[in-house]
Amino acid sequence: MRQMTKHQALTITPLPQDSELCELQAMLSRCMQCGTCTASCPNAQAMDLTPRQLWRLVQLGQLDRIFESRTFWMCSSCYTCWLRCPRDVEPTRAMAALKRLAGEHDRASRRKSAFYRAFAGNIRRYGRVQETALMSSYLTSLASPRRALEFTPIGMKMLGKGKLHPPSRAFAGRLELLFRKVDEMEERT
Ligand code: SF4
Ligand code: SF4
Repeated sequence: MRQMTKHQALTITPLPQDSELCELQAMLSRCMQCGTCTASCPNAQAMDLTPRQLWRLVQLGQLDRIFESRTFWMCSSCYTCWLRCPRDVEPTRAMAALKRLAGEHDRASRRKSAFYRAFAGNIRRYGRVQETALMSSYLTSLASPRRALEFTPIGMKMLGKGKLHPPSRAFAGRLELLFRKVDEMEERT
């Protein structure tokens, strides 16, 4: 995991005016940097910054560094950190808010945001990943013929190896209950 240097920790980037961001900063001001969320997170190994470091960056308003990070994209909304946080900071909600804000405020994050939404929608619809449907909804949401062309060589390669299959609905709806529960929990927050 990447460590923050003293210089980086003191470089402050002004936050754009955004009510969700202000709300997020207010909530994260309760964070006492105990690291319980990081120690509890099953995905921490895949994150470049720990959740605790991310909250510190939000407190300092270092939005550029936050959007460069892949940490919030790696959050699978398991709610473990939220259950264990001694200051009731709601880290899961903060991760979800950062995914939305990155999609809105950071050009480089828009593709990641589009892929994240296409991926979640694909799993919800088919009950497992259906690569061809996933890529077609992702590329459609980007509305970029150039980007679609970039994927042509790998698509042709996969087709040649018999790795592309037409979407099957054999597992459709299997995860619907789980997604509904997540919707319900998110509505309560
Ligand atoms: S567990 Fe809560 S208080 Fe502790 S570092 Fe994480 S968000 Fe902050
Ligand atoms: S909700 Fe996200 S950040 Fe919290 S423990 Fe689960 S994966 Fe980690």
